[in-house]
Amino acid sequence: MGLATLKQLLTQQLRTDQLLGLRSVPLVWPEFSTSKKEVPGAGGDSRNAPTARADASHTQAGDSPQAGRLRLLDDTQVKSCTKCSLCKERTQTVFGQGNASPRLVFVGEAPGYEEDQQGLAFVGRAGQLLTRMITAMGLTRDEVYICNVLKCRPPKNRDPSAEEILACSPYLREQLEILQPEVVVSLGSPASKTLLNTAEGIGRLRGRFHDFYLSGHSGDGPSVPLMPTYHPAYLLRSPSEKRKTWSDLQMVMSRLGLTPPGGS
Ligand code: SF4
Repeated sequence: MGLATLKQLLTQQLRTDQLLGLRSVPLVWPEFSTSKKEVPGAGGDSRNAPTARADASHTQAGDSPQAGRLRLLDDTQVKSCTKCSLCKERTQTVFGQGNASPRLVFVGEAPGYEEDQQGLAFVGRAGQLLTRMITAMGLTRDEVYICNVLKCRPPKNRDPSAEEILACSPYLREQLEILQPEVVVSLGSPASKTLLNTAEGIGRLRGRFHDFYLSGHSGDGPSVPLMPTYHPAYLLRSPSEKRKTWSDLQMVMSRLGLTPPGGS
C-alpha cells in the first residue's frame, strides 16, 4: 500500500470518527468495497446506484405512488388512531419521514419529547446522533427513511408495552411494505424484537443480518435483510458501544455497496 493511500484511509477514518463522536478508535480497515461496483445478489436495477436514487428523491412528497400511499396511511389511519391509550397524551402522531423509495430504512422505538412536539421522527439529541451515523455512512437523511414502531410518545419516554406494540406495529409493517427497502436497520431492543418477532435482546441480535419477513412469520414470503444495532439514545448514555454500532453500519454499507465519505 502506498503512502498516499494510507494517508487517505487515515484521513477518512478520522473524519468518520469525528462524525460519530469517537475520540480514539483503532484504525479499522474498511470491510466494504472502495469502488461502487454492484453488490452480488442486489440485482441490476437503479437500487444499486445510490447517487442516482438520491437525485431521483428530489421529487416532492406526493409525486410518487409510494409517497402517496404513505400519506394516505398517515392521513386516514395514523393521525386519528385511538387503538391504544397513548392517543390520550400525545401532542400529535409521528409517522416517519424521508425518501419514499429508500434503499435503507431506520426503525426506532417511539417518539420522544421533541418528536412529539415537532411531529417528526428522531429530531432530538438521539436524532442528531442518528444524523451523524447516517452522514458517516455517506448518506443524508433525505436519502433514507426514518420511523418508529410506535407512532405516539409513551409518557415520560417509558418503554412501550406489549399491547401498544401489538396495536401499532401493523402501521409499521404497512409502511415497510410500501417502502420496499433493500436493508432495514432496527435501533434498539424494542424495535429489533418487534420486527424479528423474538425475545432476544439487542446484545445478542446485533452484529449480523437477520431475515425480516413483512408477513411477520419466519419463512413466510419474501424477506428483507435486517441489521439490529444499538439505539442512538443508548449510545448517548454508553458511548463506548459506538464502535460496535459502527461495525454494524459498516456491514450495512457493504451490503448496499456504499463507499464512505472521502472514499474513492
Ligand atoms: S401508538 Fe399507535 S396504536 Fe397507539 S394510538 Fe398511537 S398510532 Fe394508534
